[in-house]
Amino acid sequence: MTLSHSTTAEKPSLAGMTRAQIGDALRALGLPEREIRMRVSQLWHWIYFRGARGFDEMLNVSKTLRVTLNGAFDLRLPEIVEEQISIDGTRKWLLRLPSTGPQDKGAEVECVYIPESDRGTLCVSSQVGCTLTCTFCHTGTQKLVRNLTTAEIVGQLLVARQRLGDFPGRERPTDGLVPAGEGVRAVSNIVFMGMGEPLYNVENVMAAIEIMADGDGLSLSKRRITVSTSGVVPQIERLGSECGPALAISLHAVRDELRNELVPLNRKYRIKELLQACRDYPGASNARRITFEYVMLKGVNDSPAEARELVRLLKGVPAKINLIPFNPWPGAPYECSDWETIERFSDIVFNAGYASPVRTPRGRDILAACGQLKSETEKLRARARLAAQDAAE
Ligand code: SAH
Ligand code: SF4
Repeated sequence: MTLSHSTTAEKPSLAGMTRAQIGDALRALGLPEREIRMRVSQLWHWIYFRGARGFDEMLNVSKTLRVTLNGAFDLRLPEIVEEQISIDGTRKWLLRLPSTGPQDKGAEVECVYIPESDRGTLCVSSQVGCTLTCTFCHTGTQKLVRNLTTAEIVGQLLVARQRLGDFPGRERPTDGLVPAGEGVRAVSNIVFMGMGEPLYNVENVMAAIEIMADGDGLSLSKRRITVSTSGVVPQIERLGSECGPALAISLHAVRDELRNELVPLNRKYRIKELLQACRDYPGASNARRITFEYVMLKGVNDSPAEARELVRLLKGVPAKINLIPFNPWPGAPYECSDWETIERFSDIVFNAGYASPVRTPRGRDILAACGQLKSETEKLRARARLAAQDAAE
């Protein structure tokens, strides 16, 4: 006897789709062309403005159409398989992405929420893992890599807003810190600083930003959406002219020799070219500065001479500098600079006229800080083994 696996084909999810994709989905259902625009607007409003979880909530859509929609689609989102809340209120979610086909067992990514009193920042992933191998970054050691789809990127924001009660008429969770109050958004800012190199997946990243910034839906200003890149020079201009979010550059070194080692992509695109692309970034101005991220590695890139060189290099670039204390991970080959060293570095940069906030590490206790994200299956297997042992005891 042969056992055949049941293949319950999953219905496509409309949550995360662009307007054009929703339109095509409705056309495929046989809806008349003259209705498509209006129906797309209705669905858009329910999915992205109200955060509807099912078609039955969509009361201005006729009952018959709701039944048809239910039969053909759903509003499935990435699933939170694990939530960790740090003592400082930072949340890290391990998300399982719906399978994209029979070959795909469902990848996993991490997404981090960082609340402050007046804002909430969601750090989203653009890839599962990363093909680049920056030596100080945990994500770079992960083997499995694929690009996320547009819907999977938008899905991270939708999941976060669902979990945080960040849709009209919803309650904030009572555990952990989440900014609240009349008109206060739980998620007010997005940074593409999770797993992956966003500019290696630039089409989907730009499409996702367009959905996130759409005024009839999620409605986040592009000024509050920041794309961080390790320096994929040819895509920087494109990101600026076609989409226009805020830009952050992971610089980390002021000499090519050292940057080649820390950020191997530098062998392809040198510091000089990278900074030229920044000078040319469409929309950059003193009011819309480019952020330069600089991870503080003890004895590696943290001398006063390097701080002075950094200031010299950034002449003519509307810049702010973000000093990031190195966040350690198991087996990391670096240590974080001493506090006095970071302060000295920061003073030099500040005295040259740049804002130079030192980024307070958030969520270190749950390995949610920059560069600590990694969700390889081995780790999960190890966790499952432990859970099984616990259960057996
Ligand atoms: N791939 C993109 C975006 C993700 S990384 C990029 O490299 O810009 C987000 C930021 O975290 C980058 O500036 C990265 O250099 C930094 N980072 C990576 N590992 C880190 C670590 N262990 N400690 C502190 N910052 C780290
Ligand atoms: Fe990739 Fe960014 Fe990590 Fe470098 S720092 S390995 S580009 S995620």
